[in-house]
Amino acid sequence: MDLKSLIRDIPDFPKPGIMFRDITTLLRDAEGFRYTIDTMAEKCSGLNVDFVIGMESRGFIFGAPLAYQLNAGFLPVRKPGKLPAPVHCVEYELEYGTDKLEIHQDAAAPPARVLIIDDVIATGGTAAATAQLLAQMGCELAGFGFIIELTGLEGRKKLPDVPIVTLVEY
Ligand code: AMP
Repeated sequence: MDLKSLIRDIPDFPKPGIMFRDITTLLRDAEGFRYTIDTMAEKCSGLNVDFVIGMESRGFIFGAPLAYQLNAGFLPVRKPGKLPAPVHCVEYELEYGTDKLEIHQDAAAPPARVLIIDDVIATGGTAAATAQLLAQMGCELAGFGFIIELTGLEGRKKLPDVPIVTLVEY
């Protein structure tokens, strides 16, 4: 299936010079969405994961059905102040300033193997920060999965040396 034909390109969003890869057009296509989850699950099945982590908010959309398919649990990583129980927190660099991500401290414990999922890897900052949260929990990072990789930004260079599964490259 040609997933690229289901992903909409929006120039200059959210600011001039950015080509936004819009996955809402993929999500609304029943066959395309099913193919995306099934293919990602197939490619990740050998990683033997106990949990899938998805980052707020588009990581939730792909991470939850993927966890279901892999017979794994789903762990949300959220923006600050959203999770009710005690959290681990990581601060990471953005183009301008910094941002924070949080996960529940008791979300998972060693020897759990965890797969990190997001819709897009751009600079890799978000995924690298999430890997740090996992390290704080002492869990094992089994790999990363991204529907879309923006290869020119070389985000994968920021990530630890584990398998990285991607479905579409720009
Ligand atoms: P980064 O931390 O730079 O790898 O950015 C990853 C996050 O930003 C992902 O959660 C994406 O949803 C979003 N993102 C970055 N660049 C784009 C883009 N060109 N199109 C769509 N989403 C993007």
